[in-house]
Amino acid sequence: MVLTKKSRIALIGTGIMGAPIAGHILDAGYDLTVYNRTRCKAEGLLARGAHWADSPAEAAREADVVFTMLGYPGDVEDVYLATDGLVRAAKKGAYLIDLTTSSPQLARDIHDACEVEDKFAFDCPVTGGQSGAEAGTLTLIIGATEERARPVLPLLQTFSSKVYYMGGAGKGQVAKLCNQVSLASCMVGYADAMALAEQGGLDVAQVLDMIGHGMGGSVALDRLAPKSLDGDYRPGFLCEHMRKDIALARQQAEDMDLALPGAETAFTLYDTLCEIGGSRLGTQAITLLYQDEAAATAAGLDWSLVEPAQGGADGTDAADASAQPSGPGN
Ligand code: NAP
Repeated sequence: MVLTKKSRIALIGTGIMGAPIAGHILDAGYDLTVYNRTRCKAEGLLARGAHWADSPAEAAREADVVFTMLGYPGDVEDVYLATDGLVRAAKKGAYLIDLTTSSPQLARDIHDACEVEDKFAFDCPVTGGQSGAEAGTLTLIIGATEERARPVLPLLQTFSSKVYYMGGAGKGQVAKLCNQVSLASCMVGYADAMALAEQGGLDVAQVLDMIGHGMGGSVALDRLAPKSLDGDYRPGFLCEHMRKDIALARQQAEDMDLALPGAETAFTLYDTLCEIGGSRLGTQAITLLYQDEAAATAAGLDWSLVEPAQGGADGTDAADASAQPSGPGN
């Protein structure tokens, strides 16, 4: 395939990340067709010249390159591998690129199924957050060789500023999970630090500024701790997606008989946060777990929903309510 401005592009999943990515593809002058489960989230793109398709299959049928930016591995499996899914519906020679943070094994399955059909699929999870998607400066983590991805590079560059080639199907997802376990521990780290500063009678904003200028800082702290401090819990990056990512990393580690104690702690906290009603809050809402019950209630959380022996939403072990940092009312 030779990519030109006449190439036809499809993008499925116009949510927090997919919509701005699609916007950059449009701005670069490509012909773009979009599909999203909830159509209203694509209206802004349609107003800017994107075409609407009534299904993933219809979006993909004439496309040279198909992007997906969905929520969960289950969504990816449905959209690619169902009878009327992308693997069947896309034309021969098409590129199918999954930007979702999803399962490495599923990425390998999709790659192999496409190869049989003379189509080229690779996983391409992203990092950089909503702000990176809006600015077109995402980092792409490609589960393919540079040579394999080269034909679509100009298109990928419309919404990214850095590209890493991990060399084979599923390896982009494994690398992304490495990023997520590191991020998860950064979130727990700054939440711990804020609680300690507050209980120690310090000016929390001043302490965060100090940490950000030293070795204890992180991009997560710089960008998200001020939101936690301001009580701004709007997503960004959803708590339920963080829980999904850490669950995927735990599964990957378990397959390798590897312990990830930092990720375990973060999983317990995010699982608890989701259980008490925080699924659709931004990940910076982790600090609510350290605050008194009134603050949690004001943010829409309900501690009575957590049951010590209850199973986690993804079928993993129960979040231990006693593992919350200080507990409601403290
Ligand atoms: P989001 O806003 O929930 O977007 C996901 C979109 O996929 C939604 O619009 C959803 O439709 C659509 N979708 C799901 N299943 C579908 C299907 N079967 N057919 C058509 N559309 C479908 O989430 P997001 O924040 O953009 O995140 C997307 C992915 O990127 C996640 O895997 C996340 O972990 C990852 N990620 C997110 C960030 C971030 O900062 N937000 C950063 C890096 C990576 P509905 O509108 O109907 O729900």
